[in-house]
Amino acid sequence: MSQTAQQRMAPPPPTVFNSSADIPISMGKRRHAIWNIVLFCVIGLCVMIGVPLYGYLYHYTWLDWSLFGLLYIISGLGITVGYHRLASHRSFDCPNWVKGILLIAGAWALQNSAIKWASDHLRHHAHCDEEKDPYNAQLGFWHSHCGWLFTPDQHQDPKYATRIANDPVAVWQQKYYPLLVLTGLGGTFLIGFIHNGLMGGVGCFLLAGVGRTFAVLNSTFCINSVCHLWGRQPHGTSDSSRDSWLVSLMTFGEGYHNYHHMYPTDFRNGIHWYHFDPSKWLILGLYRLRLATSLRRGTYVETSPAPMT
Ligand SMILES: [Zn+2]
Ligand SMILES: [Zn+2]
Repeated sequence: MSQTAQQRMAPPPPTVFNSSADIPISMGKRRHAIWNIVLFCVIGLCVMIGVPLYGYLYHYTWLDWSLFGLLYIISGLGITVGYHRLASHRSFDCPNWVKGILLIAGAWALQNSAIKWASDHLRHHAHCDEEKDPYNAQLGFWHSHCGWLFTPDQHQDPKYATRIANDPVAVWQQKYYPLLVLTGLGGTFLIGFIHNGLMGGVGCFLLAGVGRTFAVLNSTFCINSVCHLWGRQPHGTSDSSRDSWLVSLMTFGEGYHNYHHMYPTDFRNGIHWYHFDPSKWLILGLYRLRLATSLRRGTYVETSPAPMT
């Protein structure tokens, strides 16, 4: 056989990737980013046009506003206590049925399954302010707030999901995630429909379903953007995390982000009694009811005043 024929039959040389940035972006990652763009465009249009137009033409009822507030609290705490402090950081333990309720509440916030959320979040802690940080604040406010969702993620690493992907409750939640999202949104329509017919259902869905989801999404996004750009750093300057009491008011205590980055497994984010941290209060309440155990604390040392819960 001639040398030219041998060269023609030889297998192609293996591709060598020198860094993860060289890896071609898969269709799946690109499709995921496009899906996020479409989803957020639909939600944005509903919030900017549908919600005010309905209010102008039909007016929202006390039920719509009450359900807006109630679901903001439930789905918000589902993220802060369920997805963040429990699933991501294991800052306490609880029975599986309690974990299941917390993860269902988190699913109603439309922030992906607990497994995906925790995997991204642990990578944020491991590579804060670096290229592999999914919400890298060094790339500016827009990217860290929500722009990262619309960009194919080249640095996804299954190792950050290893532990949580072995949790049967989290696996169950991921399996039924689309159904859980539908129950959260569809439930608002059903309640409004029972109370006030078809248009009552539409109003409740727009305000307590879509409008509330938009509010919870943006308050969570503020932790990744505002709390890495503006605020004080009383606990450490090894990364860009900052404390913001204002963000804590919207996010059930998650705004004390500088402390959280320094002591990620602490069940508290606000360590002083005057810190607004309802997520910590819920965990303490579960503890008093014997529904939460092994509450973890950081080794925080302060001379005066003493840290309090
Ligand atoms: Zn952070
Ligand atoms: Zn965290």
